[in-house]
Amino acid sequence: MVSLDDFAAQSEGLGTLIEDVRSGRAPHAVLLTGAVGTGKRTLARLLACAFLCTGTSPKPCMQCKGCRRVMNSTHPDLLMPSCGEKERSVKVEHLREIIHALSMHPVEGGERVVLLENAQRMTVQAQNALLKSLEEPDGATRFLLTASGDVGLLPTVRSRCRTARLQLWPAERVAQELIRRGAKPEQAREIAILSGGSIGTALAMLEDNDLMRVRTLCEETFFSLSSVHDVPEAAVKLRERKDDADGLLDIFEQRVREYLLFSMKAGPEPAAVAQTRCHEIWLQAEPVHLERVLSGILDARRYRTANVSWQAVAEKLLYTTAEEIN
Ligand SMILES: [Zn+2]
Repeated sequence: MVSLDDFAAQSEGLGTLIEDVRSGRAPHAVLLTGAVGTGKRTLARLLACAFLCTGTSPKPCMQCKGCRRVMNSTHPDLLMPSCGEKERSVKVEHLREIIHALSMHPVEGGERVVLLENAQRMTVQAQNALLKSLEEPDGATRFLLTASGDVGLLPTVRSRCRTARLQLWPAERVAQELIRRGAKPEQAREIAILSGGSIGTALAMLEDNDLMRVRTLCEETFFSLSSVHDVPEAAVKLRERKDDADGLLDIFEQRVREYLLFSMKAGPEPAAVAQTRCHEIWLQAEPVHLERVLSGILDARRYRTANVSWQAVAEKLLYTTAEEIN
């Protein structure tokens, strides 16, 4: 797992924040922002551990009861909305337990942490319900918010928090980290590229061969279509992987976005692995075509919700991709 030190090395803002947390000078509310895959959720957990750790310094020790209970979400002073992660919006009723708990002392007498992941999902009413606690810190409560974009959070909420922005990691940095954890250099390089700069994804791939196989499959199929004539062969490869369909679509979307940003001169040149047969063609694709591939991915998800067979969905998306990119 990534540690606080890994994040501290990423930018001055993060370094200062983590130093402040460790030396007891932490702000009472922190907002972590950054693109998907930058590690906001991981960092928020690590900071929560640091606040509730009862072990030895440097905190968090990740060994003590406090740290362990934060990691498995059973700490009585770790307060989270009562709805699942998949819930589209967090409403006032999901915050009732938090608001009630805030009117009392922390259960274990130390600090307590209110963890609000994807805080932009909170309705305006829900955000307003938290404002009083955010505006009048009680000295024992730490608020940790994460949000992927700039939309959805009230300026009044935002202004009460110290904001720290997380970045995607450069591929070399991800590779270094993987090698440090025992990966072979060639494997580390491959995973670093396929992870698209997301350290969390990279570590998951290192531990999970299935995920690695799905990533490779994406390169061997969607990114290896030199014309529509390649579709049938790619379709056969995808047909057997029905269980991986959702993961595959997510990965494909993330990779297409990398090429789209590059084509708009808004991002670095995407890297390729040995299995990416048509990398050069993708590098030359125009934004309008890449956007159509992205709409194709959205359609594919819609068809899947409507119970269209994976085989048909995959074939359609392969044809769309081959037609747009070549
Ligand atoms: Zn600890």
